[in-house]
Amino acid sequence: MNPEEFGSSNKNGVNGFPVNGYGNGVISSSPNVTPIAIISTVAEEVDLDTGDIPLPALPEMEKLPRFSSLGYRLFDANGNAVLTNDEREEMKRLAEEKMGELFDVLRIDRNDPNSRETPNRLAKMWVDEIFRGRYEAPPKCTVFPNRKDVKELVISKGIGVMSVCSHHWQTISGTCAIGYIPGDSVIGLSKLTRIVDWFGRRGQIQEELGEQIADYLTDLLKPKAVIVVIKSRHYCMIARGVNSEEDKALMITTAARGSIAENEAMRGEFLTLIA
Ligand SMILES: [Zn+2]
Repeated sequence: MNPEEFGSSNKNGVNGFPVNGYGNGVISSSPNVTPIAIISTVAEEVDLDTGDIPLPALPEMEKLPRFSSLGYRLFDANGNAVLTNDEREEMKRLAEEKMGELFDVLRIDRNDPNSRETPNRLAKMWVDEIFRGRYEAPPKCTVFPNRKDVKELVISKGIGVMSVCSHHWQTISGTCAIGYIPGDSVIGLSKLTRIVDWFGRRGQIQEELGEQIADYLTDLLKPKAVIVVIKSRHYCMIARGVNSEEDKALMITTAARGSIAENEAMRGEFLTLIA
């Protein structure tokens, strides 16, 4: 993959727009797929001029800019566009400047020794850590043949979830359990952790996070069934708003695909096993 080509495509607004349910413009890590091929696929699927994009229903949202003042295509908080290192460095430099301006607006003296480097720390934190999944390629996920024709639920639970809510940019912290019934393929359990992390490291709402993971696994594994349960605390309910106690600010969401979506017994078995 030539990162230069990839990066410049962002500037032209070709790449970097969510093109499917999991908001990812680059889903193949196959070395046989050149970046040009991926870009042209994205361009065909999402053409701003032909009105192919499902625009938000609210008329006032159609007036929002689709490109930044710097000429980059804007995309959903939980979308993904792979950026080069140079692009990320540039992003951090610009973010540091703006974070500094925010300190001025909030009348925080940046000569205060505790705050002096904070705009720089914040810029790095948002680009390299909290929003990392927006700018990085998906984790490499090798799938293996289901040689023994496993027909039962395969479950991984206790997967860490660390994200921020799109509404307030406050921490969402919890765990995720994933169950699937394999089709022709199985996947290493550590890869599930990486996939959850990749989707979590973006601005999210928990409902969509589970849906994105379920859709991604459906595309990747073609399983007979998949279910994703996320249980998380939302600090926008703890640090602000209703100031809920930590153990009450809990949200549980389920996203199911395939036979488990309809099959009560199978769903019950999964919920018992992850309890
Ligand atoms: Zn929130």
